[in-house]
Amino acid sequence: MTEQSAALVWALGIVGWLIIRWPYRRRAKRTETVADNSSIGERVSLGLTILGLVLLPIAHLTTGVFSFANVAYSPLAGWFGMLTMSGFLIIFYLSHKHLARNWSVTLEIRKDHKLVDTGIYKRTRHPMYTSFWLWGFAQFLLIPNWIAGLAGLASVAWLYFSRIEHEEAMMRSQFGEAYEAYCERSYRLLPKIFL
Ligand code: SAH
Repeated sequence: MTEQSAALVWALGIVGWLIIRWPYRRRAKRTETVADNSSIGERVSLGLTILGLVLLPIAHLTTGVFSFANVAYSPLAGWFGMLTMSGFLIIFYLSHKHLARNWSVTLEIRKDHKLVDTGIYKRTRHPMYTSFWLWGFAQFLLIPNWIAGLAGLASVAWLYFSRIEHEEAMMRSQFGEAYEAYCERSYRLLPKIFL
């Protein structure tokens, strides 16, 4: 795979992300929220994620602004990047499908919010965040640049670590024992296979 094709695969991943999210985003806007736990800090983190995963790579790919920080490209990295990007899209799609109306961009509890612990959520509590980590890795494999390539992973790390405890605390206070039991059956990012 050439370096240009790798960049194209990255761009197609972004298009896939938009296509998958679009209908859920529209539906989420129409779904009532009963508890909004979002904060300014969380919105800043979400903005940083868009910067790292979308805007900086686009700036680099279109203008070469970070060329001084280029890394040698390897076709093997390109193929692995394509595999990782595909994994991102599949897991991202499945987590939206299973969360359905319970999904929100920021930390919120919906009207009639259900605890989802089936499908891709059965043994993993945060598959959507798993998919974001994969997106970050794919970006570095597909865009061989220390700044534009690694910005995705850096922003995903920031979002994940600043949010995870708050999200679980919110779920615990909403669902109590049921969430405790769910935590016993699952891991955060990887499936708890051996119970
Ligand atoms: N952390 C999850 C979901 C991200 S979307 C993941 O990575 O897959 C964030 C919203 O999803 C939160 O506001 C919360 O209301 C909701 N949520 C998270 N886990 C949930 C679950 N198991 N069941 C229902 N809603 C959940």
